[in-house]
Amino acid sequence: MKVLTLNCGSSTVKYKLIDTESRSNIATGKVERIGMIGASIELKSPDGNKVVREVEILDHVMAINAILKIMVEPKVGVLKDLEEIDAVGHRVVHGGETFSGSVLITDKVVQTLKDNIQLAPLHNPPNIQGIEAAMALLDVPMVGVFDTAFHSTIPEYSYIYPIPYQLYKKYAIRRYGFHGTSHRFVSQRACEINGRNFKNCTMISIHLGNGASMAAIRNGKSVDTSMGFTPLEGLVMGTRCGDIDPAIILHIMRQEKLSLHEADNLLNKFSGILGISGRSSDMRDIEELYFAGDKQAHLVINIYAYRIKKYIGSYFAVLNGVECIVFTAGIGENSPLIREKCLEGLDHLGIVLDKKKNDEVVGQEAIISTPDSPTKIMVVPTNEELVIALDTAEIVSRMKK
Ligand code: ADP
Repeated sequence: MKVLTLNCGSSTVKYKLIDTESRSNIATGKVERIGMIGASIELKSPDGNKVVREVEILDHVMAINAILKIMVEPKVGVLKDLEEIDAVGHRVVHGGETFSGSVLITDKVVQTLKDNIQLAPLHNPPNIQGIEAAMALLDVPMVGVFDTAFHSTIPEYSYIYPIPYQLYKKYAIRRYGFHGTSHRFVSQRACEINGRNFKNCTMISIHLGNGASMAAIRNGKSVDTSMGFTPLEGLVMGTRCGDIDPAIILHIMRQEKLSLHEADNLLNKFSGILGISGRSSDMRDIEELYFAGDKQAHLVINIYAYRIKKYIGSYFAVLNGVECIVFTAGIGENSPLIREKCLEGLDHLGIVLDKKKNDEVVGQEAIISTPDSPTKIMVVPTNEELVIALDTAEIVSRMKK
């Protein structure tokens, strides 16, 4: 089946056309700067050819239309006819309490997503715009794959916050967790590599991209995760603070006379790696400074790794032993330094890193623990779009039976 996956942000649409039988990409690309001057569309084909064009793109309908048009363009395209697209899979950030798995998109599903907008006011509106735009342009089945769904198995004692319970009832304030598609993919893949049945596996997955989160997985199900009601909780991220004393926010708002919007920006866009370093949110920049002996970069990396280590410890307690720890996403896949730092001194838990092997692994699947380490440590590159495409293909073929 040929599935077009769409990941719609407020000013970008990332897409992949995937052949689900061979699990290969037919095309990948993105539209950037939607509604702004200098909007562009990019298409990359598997042979490495890349086309980037500036075009006027005012909204998500125009963005998806541009993607469809470029894919069938005689010289640069990858399809003869749009009829070759069998289905569309949409990444949806927040499924609320309604969606515990991927679903066929119907008008009712779209309405439920709209009803849930207040849970993800930044992310869900562009996701919905993308769904409606694709529905207007293509007459094929569409599936929604939710970032929150994999974490729907987290027990109540972990997802309820210790604030007045009526706020959960009134506003659905609880832990949801995100990056679920990635945690599901890399943990399943790690089991596949180890010849283990996912349903019997106990593991920790660590997704370290610009956003970062960890999941505690027991018998193939997420039982805890570090992100919460929003993606702000948990690990230190590129620009997000992760766990802090909530009273700090009130204190800063009072002292600096910040509005809600300014406080939101401070915590989400100017904290984390960027906030501590004062220079960059990009781990590559921080590592360069670290290796050049920069003191502040050392502090950033120590704080970043220490937070991960604390979560590893707490998930060992949650899971009562861990067979496997999996690293993924930009930093998890590519940074031996961070992997080493956050696993330092954990031998007593049965976590023994093979440092030489760790240093060699950048961006590929590998086992990086010593052969006698009781806990396997692995690197598995994530592939959220493949999960979206496979879920879509499965739901659509079930529908056709
Ligand atoms: P996103 O969450 O936006 O998908 P990615 O998963 O691509 O992000 O991760 C981005 C992060 O990965 C950035 O902090 C980037 O610096 C980091 N990264 C990418 N390559 C390397 C590398 N070779 N060494 C260290 N960090 C890296």
